[in-house]
Formats: sequence, C-alpha cells, structure tokens
Amino acid sequence: MADRIDGKRLANGLIQGLTKEVEQFKASHNVVPGLAVVLVGHDPASQVYVSSKVKRAKEAGLNSIEHYLSEDCSQSELDGVIEQLNSNPNVHGILVQLPLPSHLCEKKVIESIAPEKDVDGFHPQNVGRLGTGEASLTPCTPLGCMLMLRQHFGDCLSGLSGKHAVVIGRSNIVGKPMAQLLLQANCTVTVVHSRTQNIESLCQQADILIAAVGQPEMVKSSWVKTGAVVIDVGINAISRDGKRKLVGDVEFDSVSGVASALSPVPGGVGPMTIACLMQNTLTAAKNQINLPTNK
Ligand code: NDP
Repeated sequence: MADRIDGKRLANGLIQGLTKEVEQFKASHNVVPGLAVVLVGHDPASQVYVSSKVKRAKEAGLNSIEHYLSEDCSQSELDGVIEQLNSNPNVHGILVQLPLPSHLCEKKVIESIAPEKDVDGFHPQNVGRLGTGEASLTPCTPLGCMLMLRQHFGDCLSGLSGKHAVVIGRSNIVGKPMAQLLLQANCTVTVVHSRTQNIESLCQQADILIAAVGQPEMVKSSWVKTGAVVIDVGINAISRDGKRKLVGDVEFDSVSGVASALSPVPGGVGPMTIACLMQNTLTAAKNQINLPTNK
C-alpha cells in the first residue's frame, strides 16, 4: 500500500512554524502581517474557501481584513477596493477569491493588484519571475505540492533531480506553475492536457504524477507506474450511494495499490494551499520591509 502524503498534518506543522515566525516578526518590527481577502457574491464553494482562509490567517496571528461585496457589485467598485488595499500599509497580501461573477473581468482584477501584495502569485510580473527562476510570490497550490514532494523525497531538492514528472492539466493557477517549479527542481517535465494523445501511456512513464484536471477519479491504477509518487490536486463533488462526497482526480483505492506514495482528497493538497497562502503573506510582509526571506 502507498504511503499517505498527509497534507493536513503537514499544513498544521507549517502553520505552527509560521505562527512563531509571525510572533518574532511582530516583536522585531512592530508590524502585524495583514492579509486582505475579497469575496464577491455568494458562491457556496468560495464562501467555504474564504472562511477557511480567514480562520487559518487568524490562527497564524495575521491581521485578517475581509471585504464582502454583493453579487452585482460593479467593476469600478471592485477596482476601488483593490486600489484602497494596494495603498494601505497594514495590508501586505491581497487575495480576490476566484471565480468572479461573469460581468467582472478577472484579468483586469489580477493585473490591478500590486505585484508585491499578490499572494496568489497570479500577477503577470510574478508569473514572469517564476518562469525565469527569480524569487517571486508563487501560486499557493503548486507551492503546496512542492512542499509535499520535498517532505517525501527529503528536504533537499536533490531527491527530485532527474525524476520524470508528468503534470496533468495546464491551467495558469495549477498546471503551468507546477511545471515551472518541477523544472526548477531539475525534474524532466511533461505536461499533458485535454488535446494530448496517448495520455495514459505518458502518465505510465511518470516517477512523479501530478493530477490537476477536475475530472473525478480519472487517473486509474493502470495509468500509474509501480512505485510512482502521486499528488492529487483535484477537488470534485460527486454523489455516490445517495451521499455527497469529495473525490480527487485519482482513483484513490486502486492507485494506492501501485504508487509508493499518494496524497488523499480531502486532507491532501487543499490544506497545504491555505497554509502556503499564509506563508506567502509573511513573505510579502518581509519583502515590503526589505527583509531577507527563506525563498
Ligand atoms: P482548469 O479547469 O482550469 O484546468 C483543467 C486542466 O485539465 C486543463 O488544462 C484541461 O485541459 C485539463 N483537462 C481537462 N479534462 C481533461 C481530460 N479529460 N484529459 C486531460 N486533460 C484534461 O482547472 P484547475 O487547474 O483550476 O483545477 C484543476 C483541479 O484542481 C480542479 O478539480 C480544482 O477544483 C482543483 N483545485 C484544487 C485546489 C486545491 O487547493 N486543492 C486549488 C485549485 C484547483 P485544456 O487546457 O486542454 O482544457
């Protein structure tokens, strides 16, 4: 049976360490790192994500600032909130929960967040820096996956060097930055997507398989090489035996019999994503007062 890569436990450890760092930061600089979260509308999944982020921010000792805007809020109203947060010195990180209602322009919103406060790592400046290997605010989900891999392969990245990593999915928020981070860790990276031919045989070649697709249990045991390490990013709500259930993009039970390690859903990448958001907020606060960071 595969080892379980326990994201929940790892995230708790990360938050504990961050809490101490935040305390030291406050004591040394008299500054409380501040995370502003903006939620537009009443999407139930977004409400759950935002309340988890706010809860974790408070646990870590960050100053949590929340803005809840109505579903029909105008682009200029949202732009105004971001402008105000950009110029507020008590706010070090800004997160606008996506997706936005369809009348609002996500691209404009992402580009209007000050790059140094862009704790989601979606601003083109941060995307570019990640691509060129410069220090940047890195998207939280791929960052969380990398921390899970580092924990599995040993903290130094040499454990990942030379491994063949296959990433399923090429979104801007998960697949592409994931591929960049794996490249930086000296993996050989293959990215597959909905137009890829022979996807199963490409996945079979992976030492490390990252599934970020949004298709419930798409990855079967026949797709996975014996001994591969599998990280399941997917979060899919399904109905089974009359009950609502969350499953990943990987068929957990069958793949457990083939992989050497596998992250579960829930309790895998999800908690790590939130913990990395807190880490990015502290990093952003350090950058804004020009302190060295651990990156
Ligand atoms: P997107 O829908 O933006 O991207 C999905 C990607 O998967 C696309 O590149 C798409 O290809 C590819 N894809 C879709 N269907 C197939 C298929 N049948 N075969 C091969 N490739 C396919 O999703 P996200 O990247 O935003 O998210 C992916 C999953 O991760 C979702 O389940 C989401 O809920 C979850 N997620 C989890 C997070 C966490 O914290 N755990 C955070 C963010 C996302 P193409 O580009 O060709 O369309």
